[in-house]
Amino acid sequence: MELSVVQIGNVLTRTSGYLRTVSSHSLQPYRGCSFGRALCGVGCYVQHNGHLTRGRPWGDFLEVRENAAASYRQHVAGERRWARAARGQFSIFLSSATEPFLPQEARYGVTRGVLEAMLEEPPDLLILQTHSHRVTDYLGLYEQLLRVAELRVHISIETDRERIAGLPPHASSVAARFAAARLLKQAGATTVITVSPLLPIDEPEQFFARAAESADAVVIDHFIGGDGSSNGERTRRTELPAAMASVDERSLRIEYRDAMVAIAQRYLPGRVGVNIDGFAGRWLPAKEAATEL
Ligand code: SF4
Repeated sequence: MELSVVQIGNVLTRTSGYLRTVSSHSLQPYRGCSFGRALCGVGCYVQHNGHLTRGRPWGDFLEVRENAAASYRQHVAGERRWARAARGQFSIFLSSATEPFLPQEARYGVTRGVLEAMLEEPPDLLILQTHSHRVTDYLGLYEQLLRVAELRVHISIETDRERIAGLPPHASSVAARFAAARLLKQAGATTVITVSPLLPIDEPEQFFARAAESADAVVIDHFIGGDGSSNGERTRRTELPAAMASVDERSLRIEYRDAMVAIAQRYLPGRVGVNIDGFAGRWLPAKEAATEL
């Protein structure tokens, strides 16, 4: 993998498109992702962004944004002012196009630096989005952040299967991510399990019961309607659908998502979100579940 250390102009990006209703800004401590060759990288929505990859294969490059914390400090006052006026709240999604808790974070500490800067200059809401149990490395920082900002942590757990034939292993095991969710919830962070993209689940009842014990809410996001193309065409060009079909053909259809939503609603009534609504914290009403079931 090609690794480079770079300088970034303004690390606070004003959101547009599908993220607009989720947060006022996104923040990427890295460009590219060293989990790109792991299971989540196979269907990763970010790989379709040619502006970001510049033609490089996903998982083959990582740019470390060395000055991310300094950039945050430099731009936060202006961006906060703009966000409160234009969007009603200064909220940050960290991260939408990379993983904040990559193994390289242990060496470079870019995400840590940004979180420390946020203690001095907090957003109104911070949403951490991760595929890694290493999110718990900074529990002490979250406890401090909770005193000055609203904190929501999204942990992606796409399936209960530790391996799916034909796909590489997870970057972080299912068991380790559930354990991380429990720790974050105990620490007081609003914790959300993002089943994104939804993969075949072996034992849905047990999976959502476990989610209800470990987190405050779940988001269920199918690649159809979730990957930014009509009818999931982008994802259909990857190896993901064939591997999903070999486990459970039904998982390729949107009805599979709806069936999982109905089960999840029983375990987390009023705390289930679908696709982008879930990422934005908009939950299906509990009474709708009662009607569906
Ligand atoms: S961790 Fe996130 S950004 Fe990185 S490959 Fe996986 S899904 Fe994509």
